[in-house]
Amino acid sequence: MEKINFKHKTIMAVGAHPDDNDFGCSATMALAARQGAKVIYVVATTGQRGSRTHKISAEQLSATRIKEQNAAAKILGVKQVRFLDYRDGELEPTLKLKEEIVMLLRQYRPDYVFTMDPSRFYYVRQNYGFINHSDHRAIGEATLDACYPLARDLNSFPMHQKMGLKPHKVKEIFLSSFMSDKANCFIDVSKTFHLKLKALAAHKSQFDDFRGVKSWITRGSAEMGKSRGYKFAEAFVRLKLR
Ligand SMILES: [Zn+2]
Repeated sequence: MEKINFKHKTIMAVGAHPDDNDFGCSATMALAARQGAKVIYVVATTGQRGSRTHKISAEQLSATRIKEQNAAAKILGVKQVRFLDYRDGELEPTLKLKEEIVMLLRQYRPDYVFTMDPSRFYYVRQNYGFINHSDHRAIGEATLDACYPLARDLNSFPMHQKMGLKPHKVKEIFLSSFMSDKANCFIDVSKTFHLKLKALAAHKSQFDDFRGVKSWITRGSAEMGKSRGYKFAEAFVRLKLR
């Protein structure tokens, strides 16, 4: 598959929680920003439930996670982070969520959209399995529906026209998941992989010990790169929309 040119492109990465975009596609976002793309993050919740202790309130955690996500974005060269007002653990692909994403698509007019693979319900490894968080599935589904057909069609959400927003056609969508078995697009992120680690480390509230995370992310990204002859890669399902 041909190389992707990010120069002068607008890119929107849409995740459910602070850190989702950083786990899924941040090395690619840093690469795109370096090549002159304008990168916008959309985060549907502020990750209020992302704590294993009761010592911190949901409001405090929310404020911390917004700060952490903004710090990570700065490291990567992401221009802006837009937070939506949904509760962690309760995200559903509702028409309201789709409408909010459509509004952002019509506002920023991205060429490429990165989001989470909604078809990924569970993962099976040799000795264990795990369930993909329902918020991840919800944001992936809502974002796909928002890109097509909703943002494109003049008649979806006609109130947007009164706000001066025109329909928008997204050219390509890239879906990330924690496993690359369905991927048809491997992006060489050898030059920006260190920024991904730095951005992930900015989500301090999420890790008791970042060394473990660093080690599995490094191993996984090296594995994804191996088949293509890259030191590190991020893998996606790439959908070119007609
Ligand atoms: Zn998440």
